[in-house]
Amino acid sequence: MFNSIPICGRVARHTVFITITLICVPAALAQRTQLKPGWNLFSVQQDIAVGKENASQAIRQLPLCNSPKIDGYLTQLGMRLVAHLDTHGATYPWEFHCVNDRAINAFALPGGYVFVNRGAIEAADNEAQLAGVMAHEISHVALRHGTNQASKAEATQGVLGIAGGLFGGGVSGAMMQALSTFAAGGVLLRYSRTAETQADVSGTQVLYDSGYDPRAMAQFFEKLEAETKGKNPPEFFSDHPNPDHRVERVDQEISKLGGIPPNARKDSQEFEAAKREVMNLPIVKKAVPGAAGGSGISKPAPPSANYASYQAGSFAMKYPDNWKKYGDQDNLAFAPDGGVGSDSSGHGALAYGISVGTQKVQDPNAPNALDAATQQLIEGLKQSNPNMKVTRQPARVRLNNQPALSTYLANDSPAGGQETDWIITVVRPEGLVYFVCTAPQSEYSNYDKTFGNILDSVRFK
Ligand SMILES: [Zn+2]
Repeated sequence: MFNSIPICGRVARHTVFITITLICVPAALAQRTQLKPGWNLFSVQQDIAVGKENASQAIRQLPLCNSPKIDGYLTQLGMRLVAHLDTHGATYPWEFHCVNDRAINAFALPGGYVFVNRGAIEAADNEAQLAGVMAHEISHVALRHGTNQASKAEATQGVLGIAGGLFGGGVSGAMMQALSTFAAGGVLLRYSRTAETQADVSGTQVLYDSGYDPRAMAQFFEKLEAETKGKNPPEFFSDHPNPDHRVERVDQEISKLGGIPPNARKDSQEFEAAKREVMNLPIVKKAVPGAAGGSGISKPAPPSANYASYQAGSFAMKYPDNWKKYGDQDNLAFAPDGGVGSDSSGHGALAYGISVGTQKVQDPNAPNALDAATQQLIEGLKQSNPNMKVTRQPARVRLNNQPALSTYLANDSPAGGQETDWIITVVRPEGLVYFVCTAPQSEYSNYDKTFGNILDSVRFK
């Protein structure tokens, strides 16, 4: 039977020399799905540097559980899983932190900095389910999905994502700097569905190899889905979008691994003790009650009717004088107090305001440069914001007498619910200049006029 041929037997026919060093592995192991990190502009050392910087900011900004007992338990469990994780030769400085946030979520920064919300511990029925979530997270680290995405975003759009505040720059040093702001890390944490499937497959392998019930991860995700049918989906799914046939793919991997082990571990007293400890933690109120994310975001005062002036190298514009300017030149945003924050998993987020950026254009004089560059921008934004949708196709308008395109998009708002993003794009000698006007859908009509006034004030040099 073909299945019973050990892998080294097949290799031996072609390369005699290496057979000496090969150890025969059982057929079941030989069949497991092999995964490799994708294309990446960053080195493993840069993953660790970016992750470390973001983690230290996360630790300052997020409400932590501050319980040595819970952190100790997470670290012990995490390291037990890491021992069975294929890191493709890299050594990461693993850290595990408990976040005092009841939203069901967890996230892992590049380089191995893992944050688990108390909500995920509370929602897990047993240790195997929590181990499943953590095995999934550490798989994102080992497969280097965060910086793989940042690399792709940089290559396709030349910027680092709308949620991050629109960072320009093409070289790795500038990207390092842009990614080193925790509030800008959205692109590191919002995974594609392909990355999700890979983390599921790898996570299942880790669970299996660690002796846990390998179905536990998929069971946890299924449970989250079932419990929130028709209601707000848990935050976990906004960072880790549900891939198609998630459970089927996991089941397939389990059969490749040789089925569910008879003595698969499900629970432990340590888990039950840690869960009790978590349930006794004080509840930390979020900035916006009832909002999906929103730390730092609160309903701003209405935009002032008086305007302040801003002068950049290549253009000038006005903005309400009760708004603040963030960043400069290529990484520009204007927002009211309470309009910008980081959501509970730490993504930088503009909920109210306008951001301005520039994207490289291959040939600004080509006849279709505006359409092509706008399309490219929107594709790039969708890549880093998987739930983003075009709600009104690009329409021809003029901005300061220049041909421009007006496009409307909908996306998840960091303040909860949906937001409207109105994007105006213009081709200038320096590239595609884009203005993104953002407000929650339910309040958009209160901002429409202000956005119009701001755009009317734009003067190119
Ligand atoms: Zn994921």
